[in-house]
Amino acid sequence: MTDAAAASPAPALGSPEQDLHAQDLRYMQLALALGRRGLGRTWPNPAVGAVVVKDGVIVGRGWTQPGGRPHAETEALKRAGKDAKGATLYVTLEPCSHHGKTPPCVDAIIKAGIARVVSALEDVNPQVAGQGYARLRERGIAVETGLGAEEAARDHAGHSWRMREGRPQALQLDPMAAAGRPDQHSRLVRIGPTRTPGDANAALRRLPPRLRNSALPRGSCRPD
Ligand SMILES: [Zn+2]
Repeated sequence: MTDAAAASPAPALGSPEQDLHAQDLRYMQLALALGRRGLGRTWPNPAVGAVVVKDGVIVGRGWTQPGGRPHAETEALKRAGKDAKGATLYVTLEPCSHHGKTPPCVDAIIKAGIARVVSALEDVNPQVAGQGYARLRERGIAVETGLGAEEAARDHAGHSWRMREGRPQALQLDPMAAAGRPDQHSRLVRIGPTRTPGDANAALRRLPPRLRNSALPRGSCRPD
């Protein structure tokens, strides 16, 4: 299923499909909430959330750990243990298919015996970009995409922007926040304008870890 297909109308009220849709939505909302725990702390990786559900029971929850690893999927699978076999994995971003500083999450998902993956958003990282889904499908895992895509796109906007532009987005400090006003903008810090990826990355590295930001675009920063 493509993201566009996910925009089709929800199944009829009271049908088994509708029940499943409502459950999927609930677990995806949980995965999104878990992912947000890492926002602002997972540089240089996106702040992803994941939930493993077996027979209607949540058997594993995970989110990207500070510093960007372990990834959300492996965290959730670790907690699920043997219960991951035949289970559904809900994840807010396409699982990675490349060897970074950690082995690919798709390999861990396949090895764990996950039967179905519900993912909110394709990763625009050119090293992933649909290959994560393809690898899972090749192994007979049912993959559905696009559920919660709008919310996930907001949460991962900083990551997507950085992948497309090759540098983090400049962050902005609310001058009132500097004076101690406790509002949602209090974490915004200006590190720009930056002209090159090197400039932006260097500026970002000088920030304290809680302010490093790969996952938030200017204007939609959340308090952490
Ligand atoms: Zn991963």
